[in-house]
Amino acid sequence: MLSKVEQLELGTILCKHCETIIGTFDAEKVTVYYSDCQEPDCHEERVKKAQQQDVSDVRLK
Ligand SMILES: [Zn+2]
Repeated sequence: MLSKVEQLELGTILCKHCETIIGTFDAEKVTVYYSDCQEPDCHEERVKKAQQQDVSDVRLK
């Protein structure tokens, strides 16, 4: 029988861009590290957002 929660790991690695949980690790207290999930979708979203921001900046000025 497989247990869903094998072990409660307090360390979490989140993507700093989309906040997807990339992984967990054993830690003595709640610890969050931010990294990059390397997902193509995440990268694309960032590119889109950057482009949208550029456009709105131009229109506001
Ligand atoms: Zn991401």
